[in-house]
Amino acid sequence: MATIDKILVVNSGSSSLKYMLFSMKNEEMLCKGLVERIGTDSANLVYQRAGGEKHSGPVKALTHGEAFEHVCKAITNPADGALKALSEVDAVGHRVLHGGMEFTAPVLVNAAVKKAIRKCFDLGPLHNPPNLTGIEACEKKMKGVPNVAVFDTGFHMTMPAESYMYAIPRDLAKKYSLRKYGFHGTSHKYITETAAKVFKKPLSRLNIVTCHLGNGSSLAAIKGGKVFDTTMGLTPLQGLVMGTRSGDIDPAVCFFLAKKEGMDADALDTLLNKKSSLLAIGGTGSGDMRDLCAAVEAGNKEAREAFDLFVHRIVLYIGGYMALVGKLDGIVFAGGIGENSDYARKAICERLATIGVKLDKKANKATHGVQARISADDSKLPVWVIPTNEELMIARETFRIVTAK
Ligand code: ADP
Repeated sequence: MATIDKILVVNSGSSSLKYMLFSMKNEEMLCKGLVERIGTDSANLVYQRAGGEKHSGPVKALTHGEAFEHVCKAITNPADGALKALSEVDAVGHRVLHGGMEFTAPVLVNAAVKKAIRKCFDLGPLHNPPNLTGIEACEKKMKGVPNVAVFDTGFHMTMPAESYMYAIPRDLAKKYSLRKYGFHGTSHKYITETAAKVFKKPLSRLNIVTCHLGNGSSLAAIKGGKVFDTTMGLTPLQGLVMGTRSGDIDPAVCFFLAKKEGMDADALDTLLNKKSSLLAIGGTGSGDMRDLCAAVEAGNKEAREAFDLFVHRIVLYIGGYMALVGKLDGIVFAGGIGENSDYARKAICERLATIGVKLDKKANKATHGVQARISADDSKLPVWVIPTNEELMIARETFRIVTAK
């Protein structure tokens, strides 16, 4: 078999197409970019070769196929491209949001796989259709190059029934595949594999809680290197207090609002996914953690309440996960907030003193976007920041699939 080296990672969303190209010899990122506002007359391409200048400019991209044409040109641009020809790409890895019950691991794309991804459209209505469009654009443009689908839900499929079942009638749950799936799986997997090296433990004996905190946030309880439970559910709405997603609420709030406010399913969907949490209650007009922390510091009472709610929910889940998993090797932070907000990490870790966390305040304050231990030497529970790298994880999974016998 020919050597597999160059792997293109594609994340095709509803109105954007992001990409990153890797050389797998030493897992080096060669270039990256995105086309945004696909389908509008203000589509824009941003691209950058590793270590090179960032380019940005308007393009015509009414479809994902057109957007991908621009990506291909950018990658092979004679002036500043990373490749001489597109034929150098050995395989493409695609982020696919929802694998439903169909997929527990990354797969090589074929007709049956595409059919199964289509079957999951109901579960991921905003993401799965453009994810599939991205796959088809690559198939068309790069004939014969293998495509691999890597599912956001995949890593979580080791959860036992006690974690994933919803206590609703079995026939309904079965009819519509209603259960907890969990998301950010690629990130939780990357963090877990890196943590095994950091904690010098074989993956099969690693017990940690991974905290992916960004605009969307989720935790995972990792037992023996596998997901035992996670905070997101059927969709990414369940669990933590996020930028705009409500996370856990009593479902009766929906019936109440339906009756009193005449809100229908779509209105409730928008309310809970796009207009809740930090955005709704933080009093800053944004769901952004930086704005929230600044407002808390400035003495804004609403911001303080929202921040405390965010912290409380995380502490609640970490405590519960510790009880479920048993002795933890550590807690790991990642994602935009987890990697950068020493303010949020400090508040969370101080509350976790109840379960043996002692923060190294200086180390925490100094850690932004880099891997570092932020707990004190005498902390019973080590706490680390491990920057996530979902694109590299997708490239690794793709490499593994296409090189497997
Ligand atoms: P997404 O879920 O969209 O991928 P990210 O992982 O990029 O989100 O995280 C975005 C969040 O990270 C925002 O709430 C942002 O305020 C926060 N964030 C990014 N940089 C910093 C920083 N330097 N300090 C505090 N928060 C930060």
